[in-house]
Amino acid sequence: MIVRPRVVLDPGHGGWENGFGSGAIVEKDVNLAVCLQVRDLLEAEGVRALMTREEDVEMSALRRIEFANAQQADLFVSWHCDYLEDPTVRGLSLWVESRCTDPWQMMIFEQLGERISGVTNQISLGVFQMRDKVLNAVEAPSVLIKGGFLSHPEELADCVNPQFQKLQAQGAAEGILYVLKQMLPLQPR
Ligand SMILES: [Zn+2]
Repeated sequence: MIVRPRVVLDPGHGGWENGFGSGAIVEKDVNLAVCLQVRDLLEAEGVRALMTREEDVEMSALRRIEFANAQQADLFVSWHCDYLEDPTVRGLSLWVESRCTDPWQMMIFEQLGERISGVTNQISLGVFQMRDKVLNAVEAPSVLIKGGFLSHPEELADCVNPQFQKLQAQGAAEGILYVLKQMLPLQPR
């Protein structure tokens, strides 16, 4: 039996929770747009890609955790955007739970970031640790990607551009396939 790897994609925020931004440009929409494309690309490669939300709906941290664990995901990928007071900072970054100190896993995730920046030409800022209740409670290896700074004028313009979102999704799908290959080397694909 061929076991399809299972990835849970988690577009940050939704519903009343906009994330960063205001007015017509809000983070929740960027996160969803990218994840929907990543899902389609992964499914085309034979990966079972499931989403914590597929629409602009509110989703609690607990429901995200329960969904991911119920799906017995091999990998959990959350997508967000970043924001800083300093409008000159740009680039994409990856975040793991602070309890994750496995250097191998950090290295694999760094490659995921490189795959995205290789397609988008963004600066990849690296892999960082954060305290996050979702990442902490999801049983699968988990990573949170911040696709760019909405506080940087050019990167903001990129992040909301469907063409750029497509490139990010391509890089992310490539990177996720790479991660799965490293983490599930024995499964037929
Ligand atoms: Zn966010």
